[in-house]
Amino acid sequence: MSRIDLHLHTTHSDGSFSAAEVVRLAHQAKVTTLAITDHDIVSGIPEAIATGAELGIEIIPGVEISSRVGENELHILGYFLNWQDQELSQRLATLRESRHSRNPQIIDRLRALGLDVTYDEVKALAGTDAVGRPHIARLLMEKHYVTSAKDAFDRYLANGRPAYVARELPPPADAIAWIKAAGGVAVLAHPTWATSAGEELEPLLVTLKAAGLGGIEVHYSTHTKRQTTKYLGLAKRLDLLITGGSDFHGITKPDIEVGIGRGGLKVSEKLLEPLKKAATRT
Ligand code: AMP
Ligand code: ZN
Ligand code: FE
Ligand code: FE
Repeated sequence: MSRIDLHLHTTHSDGSFSAAEVVRLAHQAKVTTLAITDHDIVSGIPEAIATGAELGIEIIPGVEISSRVGENELHILGYFLNWQDQELSQRLATLRESRHSRNPQIIDRLRALGLDVTYDEVKALAGTDAVGRPHIARLLMEKHYVTSAKDAFDRYLANGRPAYVARELPPPADAIAWIKAAGGVAVLAHPTWATSAGEELEPLLVTLKAAGLGGIEVHYSTHTKRQTTKYLGLAKRLDLLITGGSDFHGITKPDIEVGIGRGGLKVSEKLLEPLKKAATRT
């Protein structure tokens, strides 16, 4: 059975490998189908498709849009979308703008804490318009203020830490609607994030499904067997599609590899057909 990976980031957002490099890593890992799911941007897709065509790897156009419900960030993945859709492109540009409004505030806080960093340095390091906290974490690593991205989040950048600034985020129903309007199918990423204060997932999924959610990321690099089983049960009970992916980022999540996550991830190609069908129905 072939292995697929439906959740990957490139240098077009906060990953540290280019889209072509990510596809090459997938080839080495014997992954047959990849979805490029950069945060708020789709510019990595043509590069991935070109390298995929050379190496015989299918590329699914994707995106990951952050949304918020209460205190929780819900990340909505979009698959099989028309990535050249003009409306989608405008909406993603607006989301990237909200990053540029928040990021300098994070930098101000870091500077107030005595760290010598500027937003120009972050933007230069990022080399993309979709600038995120992992880029700030990388600058802190380069300047030896922290030992790893995890260290940067734990000490400064995570929610509740001294340099945290909340970003203006849409409700999940908007993210779902935008993905569907671009012909895609919407999927809730890493569902553990949706219940970080111990909330029940099922009623939330019922609401999101009514808003057009098509699936849930059951297989994920950091899921325990118990979590996978739980999400599989919810997907079946609520008639949601099952997806899975590594959430590969390169150096800011150094323990996670393309296709295999922390080693135990295996996402079956059998999940693809229903996902593709759901996208063509929208
Ligand atoms: P942003 O979208 O700019 O708010 O940054 C959030 C992103 O940072 C998430 O999508 C993750 O990719 C990444 N992230 C969150 N927590 C951590 C962590 N502890 N270590 C490394 N990366 C993280
Ligand atoms: Zn990310
Ligand atoms: Fe995410
Ligand atoms: Fe992600």
